[in-house]
Amino acid sequence: MPSKRKLPSRLKTDPTKMMELLVGLPEIVVLGVYVTDERVELHVESVADRPGCPACGVLAQPKGWREVVLVDLQFGGKPSTLHWHNRRWRCADGDCTNGSWTEQDERIAHPRMKLTRRAALRATEDVGRKGRTVNEVAEEPGCDWHTVNDTVVAYGEVLVDHPDRFAEVHALGLDETAFVRAAPYYRTNFVTSIVDVERGQLLDVVPGRGGDQPKYWLWARGRIWRDAVAYATLDLSGSYKAVFDACLPRATQVADKFHIIKLANERVDETRRRVQNEVLGHRGRKGDPPYRARRLLTMAEERLGDSGREKVQGLLRAGDPRGDVAVAWEAKEAVRELYGHQDQTLALEWVDALVDDLTDADRPPEVRSLGRTLRRWRLPITAWHACHLTNGPTEAMNNLIKRVKRVAFGFTNFRNYRVRALLYAGKPDWSLLPSISPI
Ligand SMILES: [Zn+2]
Repeated sequence: MPSKRKLPSRLKTDPTKMMELLVGLPEIVVLGVYVTDERVELHVESVADRPGCPACGVLAQPKGWREVVLVDLQFGGKPSTLHWHNRRWRCADGDCTNGSWTEQDERIAHPRMKLTRRAALRATEDVGRKGRTVNEVAEEPGCDWHTVNDTVVAYGEVLVDHPDRFAEVHALGLDETAFVRAAPYYRTNFVTSIVDVERGQLLDVVPGRGGDQPKYWLWARGRIWRDAVAYATLDLSGSYKAVFDACLPRATQVADKFHIIKLANERVDETRRRVQNEVLGHRGRKGDPPYRARRLLTMAEERLGDSGREKVQGLLRAGDPRGDVAVAWEAKEAVRELYGHQDQTLALEWVDALVDDLTDADRPPEVRSLGRTLRRWRLPITAWHACHLTNGPTEAMNNLIKRVKRVAFGFTNFRNYRVRALLYAGKPDWSLLPSISPI
């Protein structure tokens, strides 16, 4: 029984408007709701006028309905489905070849998607921006992994491939990431991350580690874009160097500081293992002196403290008769010291002097190898002193990507991987999300 109460005139009583507002969908009529303890079914139809035939413009004739069931946002805390009673139309002109068609409204749902538009946008943001797992997000509406993943990839791809996602880049880094190591029966594949190392933005990922794919990507950016790249950072990889030589010949190549220090640490470790084997005739075991020093040996000298330093020296005296490990350790410290230099010219002199010293014939083989690497990369190494750019932000990207990988275990499809990684680390413009539509 309608109330007799006189209501203020600002209250709207148009039933369609009220439905639109309460249900949150435009131009619909609610046909009915079915509610159980577990779920909600919302049945709607559009209020759209009789359309003209898309081919000839003659007014269409109704040809019944087709019920489309879509996964929707939760309603009253319960998983919900939207049952869209979709009108079918037929051209009234018997000679027209258009035949019949079903109404479409992308504001409700994209024709290929199993989620309503609003549920799809929410899922894309939850998975892509917040890094929630697809399983988690699929659980709420009670649908399966593929339904949510397909939706996130379809909407997300439009966002990450938006032409304005990044513009000119001043410093670009290449870095490899292992992808799919989830299970023994999956091969480890590598992808190359292409990163704006100044802004800390993942620009893209391409398959493989080096070679043609990063080249194709850079060629596709065009000449002006490539010429704007002033610095190109890389780990000590010959294949990435070749990419830069070919595509960014004007950019100054910068060897990544953290990779250089990591390499020096690896040589200390190798020396320790070899000496251990020679002295004891077996691999390092708990209790062997140099084995006990292995963590201390790769630690920065200033972090050791007096007691740590004494401990290292004591352990080395006990298990390093020719002093090879000690030499490797000093070489590592000298490499670290290089990054204390402020001046590029002095840094280059330091590297050259260090190379002379480390490649001396009486140095242990691991140290000579380190010296040769430093000689080969002396200019990219000291380019750091002019720009202080590192792949550090790239490594941060890799951590993000690892997170994406963790939350998406079993993730073997490169397209999925690319879209998820770029949604998370590629700084897409999320304000565009409400207006995008899958291709
Ligand atoms: Zn027609």
